[in-house]
Amino acid sequence: MTEVSSIYLSGLKNAHAMENQALSIMKPQVSRIENYPQVARRLEQHIAETEVQISRLDQLLDGAGADNSTLKDMALSFTGAMAALGHTVAPDEIVKNSFANYAFEHFEIAAYKSLLALANHMGDARAVDLLTQNLREEQDMAAWLDENIEPVTLQYAALREVGETAKR
Ligand code: MG
Ligand code: FE
Repeated sequence: MTEVSSIYLSGLKNAHAMENQALSIMKPQVSRIENYPQVARRLEQHIAETEVQISRLDQLLDGAGADNSTLKDMALSFTGAMAALGHTVAPDEIVKNSFANYAFEHFEIAAYKSLLALANHMGDARAVDLLTQNLREEQDMAAWLDENIEPVTLQYAALREVGETAKR
């Protein structure tokens, strides 16, 4: 295995762990939302997209010769910069989660841009195609979050003003 393909393989494994982490961040959020149905719907859409992203990474990992025992351990291995995400106790958790999700999507965008640089370098057209699909979904989600920071913040403020107790 060349150095480039070994860097690429470890990048794929990290992306796989990252996507499992994405599910473990989004699923509890969606289950707690009560007053922001538009956020819940978009998160549900992105959870479904993320499940497909994981299957694309599985295909690429199979093709890159990763063995199954490695794959089973990856879900637990993503413990880096994103570990502190998730604000489930603060009254303004919907607002803080919008910051955390915005940061997470940009982490994912960077990870896929890095993997795409390697896939392009190796001339792997199938990997470029699948990774580009994942990248586009992260960019769409990041753009949606970007547009929704203001409305979600103002909706939170309006609920506070009417004394709504269930703010999340
Ligand atoms: Mg993702
Ligand atoms: Fe994402």
